[in-house]
Amino acid sequence: MKIALLGVGQAGGKVADAILDYEAASRADFVTDTVAINSARADLLGLERIPVDRRVLIGQSRVKGHGCGADNELGVTVAEEDLDEVRGAIDDLPVHEVDAFLVVAGLGGGTGSGAAPVIARELSRLYTEPVYGLGILPGSDEGGIYTLNAARSFQTFVREVDNLLVFDNDAWRRSGESLRGGYASINEEIARRLGVLLSAGEVSEPPFPESVVDASEIINTLAGGGVTTIGYANSQLDRPSRGLFGRREPDPNETDVVNRITTTVRRATLGNLTLPANVESTERALVVVSGPPQYLSRKGIEGSRRWLEEETGTMEVRGGDYPIPKSDYVAGLVVLSGVTDVPRIKELQQIGAETQRNLKARAEQRPEALRDLVWDGDGEIDPLF
Ligand code: GDP
Repeated sequence: MKIALLGVGQAGGKVADAILDYEAASRADFVTDTVAINSARADLLGLERIPVDRRVLIGQSRVKGHGCGADNELGVTVAEEDLDEVRGAIDDLPVHEVDAFLVVAGLGGGTGSGAAPVIARELSRLYTEPVYGLGILPGSDEGGIYTLNAARSFQTFVREVDNLLVFDNDAWRRSGESLRGGYASINEEIARRLGVLLSAGEVSEPPFPESVVDASEIINTLAGGGVTTIGYANSQLDRPSRGLFGRREPDPNETDVVNRITTTVRRATLGNLTLPANVESTERALVVVSGPPQYLSRKGIEGSRRWLEEETGTMEVRGGDYPIPKSDYVAGLVVLSGVTDVPRIKELQQIGAETQRNLKARAEQRPEALRDLVWDGDGEIDPLF
């Protein structure tokens, strides 16, 4: 699937950069064009892969290139005010070569959280191609404001896109990685998952997939909207070192190949989702198995598809393969689209609502508290003028 990639805010830009890294090292071209959009000049300068002329600074008259802090209402305002600049960059996109748009942002901050839904709405208004979002949820240790921002942005972003793919920084942290130091590896992980999904149908030289996951398979899986989570797992192969005396690698045993595929897909689904969700609440699913061609098997993929049908209770499970001859892994990627039972989102909303109540109560008490502080109780002290 060919995408136009828009990274909004710092996290959005960095993840877009990571996706371009993945593409550069892969066998397929799936990013037709990229745009980074930010109100912080320094963040735009820090990007590596996105071409300099595809970086758009918004909100300059208001925030002078210093970003929106964690104020996502300001993020909405600067995007709406500078929509012309954004439109200018989008006008340059070769939209006829694009199957879909992907708008990426961290939902806990200011610029991405506020501007991404505004940009998605504009893209949907202008083009008939589907507009997907990739929303990153903040870690729960980031504090109430970030959680409230994410809860508000999530609601708006889901409404404005054709499907919101969600990555929860917290789920990653729970898997034992430290968050702050680990952004680079988290971004790599996000890029790998999207990369496998989007590049599987774009291989332009042999070996070609036996069962292709093309753009329409992905679009049909994501149709119906809502929220999507992506599972991924891999299994390392014990391949003999290649090229030694031109010896041909012996073909692996068929039963082992099938078993490896089915266990990898199970691991991807049950323990390794970008947003932990109850698998039974899935509306549609898609499975992609990648690896060296001799380790891919139609029987294994069919078995995994049937297992996913049982596990999710949906009859709409698509599947395909993605041969990568030099890989030392067999990997399983599982897309669960339209999930509705997601405890993390409920937790986010609960903490967000609590934070909003606290902020309101404090704002109401503040004028009186300040008056008490500034005026001496007995009125003995006179102000200067
Ligand atoms: P913005 O520039 O105002 O949109 O805000 P940031 O993108 O800096 O931060 C928004 C949220 O995104 C933060 O609260 C973090 O949860 C998350 N975040 C920031 N940088 C990264 C990153 O590089 N990778 C990931 N996965 N999350 C990030």
